Amino acid sequence: MLKTYQYPKFAYQRPPELSLSENRIAKRYPVIVVGAGPVGLACAIDLKQQGIDCLLIDEDDTVSIGSRGVCYAKRTLEIFDRLNMGDDVVKRGVSWQRGRTFFRNDEVYHFNLLAESGHERPAMINLQQYHLEEILQRRAAQAQVDMRWRQKVIAVDHQSVDVDKYARTVQLQVESPDGVYELSCDWLVVADGARSSIRRMMGLDVEGKIFTDRFLIADVVMQADFPSERWFWFDPPFHRNQSVLLHRQADKVWRIDFQLGWDADPDEEKKPERVIPRIQAMLGEQHSFELEWVSVYTFQCRRMLSFRHGPVLFVGDAAHQVSPFGARGANSGIQDADNLAWKLARVVKDQSPERLLDSYDHERVCAADENILNSTRSTDFITPKSSVSRVFRNATLDLANHFPFARSMVNSGRLSLPTHYLDSSLNTADLPSDHFACVLYPGSPMCDAPIMVNGQSSWLLRSFDGRFVLLFVKGDEVSEQVVNSEAMKQWIESANIHLITIDLLQQPRASNDQDPLIKTRLDLQPGNCWLMRPDQHLAARFRQAALDPLIKAFERATGQTEQPSIASPLASPLASSTASSTAGGFSSKQRPSQKSDALSKGLIVEPNFKDFDTPVLRDYQGNDRFYDMLINAHRNLSDDASSALNARLLLLLANHIGDVSVLQQAIEAAQTIQPSTSYKE
Ligand SMILES: Cc1cc2nc3c(=O)[nH]c(=O)nc-3n(C[C@H](O)[C@H](O)[C@H](O)COP(=O)(O)OP(=O)(O)OC[C@H]3O[C@@H](n4cnc5c(N)ncnc54)[C@H](O)[C@@H]3O)c2cc1C
Repeated sequence: MLKTYQYPKFAYQRPPELSLSENRIAKRYPVIVVGAGPVGLACAIDLKQQGIDCLLIDEDDTVSIGSRGVCYAKRTLEIFDRLNMGDDVVKRGVSWQRGRTFFRNDEVYHFNLLAESGHERPAMINLQQYHLEEILQRRAAQAQVDMRWRQKVIAVDHQSVDVDKYARTVQLQVESPDGVYELSCDWLVVADGARSSIRRMMGLDVEGKIFTDRFLIADVVMQADFPSERWFWFDPPFHRNQSVLLHRQADKVWRIDFQLGWDADPDEEKKPERVIPRIQAMLGEQHSFELEWVSVYTFQCRRMLSFRHGPVLFVGDAAHQVSPFGARGANSGIQDADNLAWKLARVVKDQSPERLLDSYDHERVCAADENILNSTRSTDFITPKSSVSRVFRNATLDLANHFPFARSMVNSGRLSLPTHYLDSSLNTADLPSDHFACVLYPGSPMCDAPIMVNGQSSWLLRSFDGRFVLLFVKGDEVSEQVVNSEAMKQWIESANIHLITIDLLQQPRASNDQDPLIKTRLDLQPGNCWLMRPDQHLAARFRQAALDPLIKAFERATGQTEQPSIASPLASPLASSTASSTAGGFSSKQRPSQKSDALSKGLIVEPNFKDFDTPVLRDYQGNDRFYDMLINAHRNLSDDASSALNARLLLLLANHIGDVSVLQQAIEAAQTIQPSTSYKE
């Protein structure tokens, strides 16, 4: 029992299949979704909105028990807007965008996830997962999704799947309180969570890393005036040698995560007599609180090799799992659903061939790898597993107190960002003559901006309605003739495309002397055409409207023409030169650089890594990548071998720098810092 929340009970109904007379054939569903967690619910709502008759089944009859997901990212909120429930989630949750990281008593850096204005949704909201699931369930009921509770899938006929990879029949055996029955469908979406029993029934593997650390979750109810920010401590005085995370949630419930170490006894640690003193030490005597929930968790970073197995499609935790640092679990699962639903709907309606679903596998496997990489890096930093990685981590924290470059390396969790499907086969590359000076590329999720359409103010992403969108910029005579032609109108109608026409002269600006935000963010000019997929990722864009290239791009984006993946545009020199943090993420320019002035002549102490993996929203990739390389180079070395490697490395880098005065400053800077000792084991 929670003090602030009563778990709902969703009504069980006897399945109609159990009442069929002998010669009646059971209904065969186009799509069945197994698992009504956040991902299965989002997927079922999306499919229903796309006009697909799908059945959602879950073995349970309530929402997620206890404290699990907390943080939901801007992109997820934008998907919820498309599912017509974004307002409910934002109203119920706690919006935030700032985070602070402390090393012992000192703040070593802070960040602002969304420093610029002109976005409808906040960078993040915090909300207990049970509230989120209840909102999703309500929306599913309103959308008339066929939901069945207390129905457990106990067998999958995957023989037909294995024998004929593309056979479009899946047979399920389902256990209900009234007995076992069979269901069949053309497509099965598996959203049955990290321990996926369907994955096991089909004999499929998950590969990756299991972390040997334990964390205590304590949800407490308290009246506190801490700001709505993410606070993370390394080695705080109230929990020595470990880390702690604090988040504010809805209903005055605060979530505290204490790192315990692998040797901790989970049963002992959950006892109130162990938990309460830990929290008292953290909050001080002035804050009284009540325990709402306590549990201990461990975690893993791993994924299935493939998310599509013929007519069976895996989404969410069933397909991939990450550590909670970075809030990438449910966020990425909901983005799986966002990616899959429109594709599956097109295939079910025979609008696209089955191979469109292979792009689900390709795009979301890439996304899972990105999430696993970030989550693993954060976890390695937060819970170093070798003495040398602990030494580097502590050196980073020590340096962070003094130098901005090291602050950018402090990795207390790189928070969830959407993946840019840059090498997807569905993208049409920009024409060589069509340079767009912005941080979006074919495959990128569209960024938001305030807009004015037909005299009404709105938001760019709000105006997309779940169909393909053609965003056209007025003001160029030739392009206008093309867009107003009969042929274009017929194509738009037959392809069911939503045309949005923008007049740049009327678009909202941050101030009178600036260009409209939408113009700057998308580098728009009159005559431009942007073709967006139903999941709001960019399929193609052209400086001038022309029907044939648009039709080809649409056919490509809908899998109607077989195309290999395109090369990521980031291989081009353009990529790094356009790197910027305009659409959110950390900005090195905003970081405080106190204490660095004396040393800033010659020795660079601002963040200085240039090789971004992608140019969008990822200020830290170069830093994180280097850190990863360094720790990997030391893996499995003895202390002596590690010291020798460090010496060789230092000499090589010194030679590369080659400027003795800079090296002198670096030596002095390193000498002035008192190393931390309490972290050493
Ligand atoms: C401590 C912690 C903190 C986290 N913090 C965050 C965060 O801040 N942000 C974030 O995005 N994510 C976070 N996560 C991850 C998030 O909780 C999961 O990623 C999310 O729940 C996955 O959703 P899902 O729908 O894929 O699976 P689940 O939520 O696990 O749902 C699976 C559903 O399938 C049903 N089911 C299972 N087997 C069967 C069967 N055989 N037949 C029928 N039904 C079945 C279950 O009853 C369940 O309802 C956190 C997780 C933990 C543990």
